[in-house]
Amino acid sequence: MKKIFLIAIALFAFQAAWAQQPNFIDAATADSLLKQSEATFPKFCRELTYIRTHDELIKQVNFSRSKILNGSPASASPRGVINIDISYLEHPKPDFDDNRLIVVLYHEIGHLHYFTITPPADRAPMNSEKAAFEYSLLKTKEMAEKGDCLPLKTGLKFMKLRSKSNNLQDPHVRALKLMVTEPLYFDYLKYAKEHCG
Ligand SMILES: [Zn+2]
Repeated sequence: MKKIFLIAIALFAFQAAWAQQPNFIDAATADSLLKQSEATFPKFCRELTYIRTHDELIKQVNFSRSKILNGSPASASPRGVINIDISYLEHPKPDFDDNRLIVVLYHEIGHLHYFTITPPADRAPMNSEKAAFEYSLLKTKEMAEKGDCLPLKTGLKFMKLRSKSNNLQDPHVRALKLMVTEPLYFDYLKYAKEHCG
């Protein structure tokens, strides 16, 4: 009896803690929201579904609404957790269409790769962002090779735009300022020019 009482208390405490995280969305609700988003974001939903079961670096995908992610559609943590702000799917934003969200998704997975190959003491925010952007280019180029150039073109466009920002506090900006001067970025531009019209 005492055991049941303790379990009930623990469950109550867990529920109370969960209730204090109103931004997180439970798995069933997230699945249903993703289903509803398929018409507007078909590629993003398809890629997300595929990688959730095929990329072993992804241990968990969490869904939430805006506040925790601080204005970013997604984030990644070293434990293999990808956080997605579902409000970007519920309320489509002009700069974050289906193609851009694909770029964001692969950017976050790029972080997971960086965390995997870089020991914690060697990690640096700018290098992590650079690795993430480069991974998104690698993966969207693979999509281009299979016939869909738009994610690659979208990624290249927004990387160039963001590289012009003066916000040097932002490691994304610092990474991009360097990247857009490097041969790797020019190779992707050249590929897009030759194959993507
Ligand atoms: Zn990043």
